Amino acid sequence: MHTPFCLYSTQVLLEDGLTPATLLIEAGKIKSITKGKSPVKGLLFSDKGNKVIMPGLIDSHVHINEPGRTDWEGFDTATKAAAAGGITTLIDMPLNSSPVTTTAKAFKEKLAATKGKLHVNCGFWGGIVPDNLEDLEELLAAGVLGLKAFLTHSGIDEFPNVNEAEMRTGMLLAKKHNIPFLAHCELDAPHPGIESLKEHPTSYVHYLHSRPKSWENKAVDLMIRLCEETGCKTHIVHLSSAEGLPAVREARAKGLPLTVETCPHYLCFAAETIPDRAIQFKCAPPIREWENNVLLWEALAAGDLDFVVTDHSPAPPEVKQLDSGDFSKAWGGIAGIQFSLPVMWTALRRRGHSLGELSSWMSGAVASFLGMDTCKGKLAVGYDADIVVFDPDSVFRVEEDLILHRHKITPYLGMELSGIVLSTYVNGELVFDDGAMCGLDCGMVLLKTNN
Ligand SMILES: [Zn+2]
Repeated sequence: MHTPFCLYSTQVLLEDGLTPATLLIEAGKIKSITKGKSPVKGLLFSDKGNKVIMPGLIDSHVHINEPGRTDWEGFDTATKAAAAGGITTLIDMPLNSSPVTTTAKAFKEKLAATKGKLHVNCGFWGGIVPDNLEDLEELLAAGVLGLKAFLTHSGIDEFPNVNEAEMRTGMLLAKKHNIPFLAHCELDAPHPGIESLKEHPTSYVHYLHSRPKSWENKAVDLMIRLCEETGCKTHIVHLSSAEGLPAVREARAKGLPLTVETCPHYLCFAAETIPDRAIQFKCAPPIREWENNVLLWEALAAGDLDFVVTDHSPAPPEVKQLDSGDFSKAWGGIAGIQFSLPVMWTALRRRGHSLGELSSWMSGAVASFLGMDTCKGKLAVGYDADIVVFDPDSVFRVEEDLILHRHKITPYLGMELSGIVLSTYVNGELVFDDGAMCGLDCGMVLLKTNN
């Protein structure tokens, strides 16, 4: 373990761009970076030729569901899929495990469930629900990185949504502890689309219309108002409605501590091309029309969206209603953690963006959001040796036998994508190489107190 070694290629992604360089890795960290080819006598010299060496991706929005719903997704399978996808750090959501992570006791059960199964680094969000306000201090003291709330039904009865007063309480607490408060932004209201989905349950268009942009826009407005009132670091997860962007821009121009993420599926798919019964595309808020999604791309390029994370949220075929194709009953969640890097690279290069931008939107900016930017999110001396070796020019097809997450249901199945993850290093250990896992249990638990 932890034998020092050198990692070299002609394309190492450093702060000034792609350059030939040699990284000396020792004790899980990047000990030195030397421009050019610089072997160290007596040490393994891993020469990656012209392949890209870049920081491992960080995914702050992942639903692992263990303990309690491990048949949906568990730490072993999710973190293997992450490693295969070049993700070296992920943050687990407080649902859909059972118990949900809303008390220190439940969090301890979750930590116990990770034993021997963390193949990448893993931190945890805590949940805020109406009946746990008294438990939050203890939950935060146990080491969760922030609090997550739903403004509408979460899909899991034991994780009910909170009201404005409850959110204010949670946000003031988050402000006191200087941690982010994450919100699923949909404020539901009676809407004719709900009834028409019942009449056309297998129609994607009817599903789309059952969760209108207005729900999201109102929720974004509410979060911005509470952000201004409390001064709490407020984070909008998975923004889908581009109509929410003007309010976001205005709030950020005022200097409010507001951050916003979106997901690959909102950028790379469009409602117009989703077939009926294709429940692998069901998520909430829904994937919207292309005209909307173009505005999300523009916002990402302009810096109005901070970063891109997966919201990986799988479910078994029966919960996903694979046979019926019923959008009104299917679990709303997309499995995609293994493919976010090639999916985004395929789309980004087509739009003229660089690997440096990809790395910023899928690693550096996420590290900053998490307060981990002194140790993760870039290749620099003293930083954690969380590294991916990537071939940006090769193409592959997503086939079922490649998929390492528990269920093979994903909207990316069958797609031809640019960019292959060749090797992944977690804390200086080679965990994935040449299409297979080769190092297990190398991930660390990331607690707030450790940062
Ligand atoms: Zn989610």
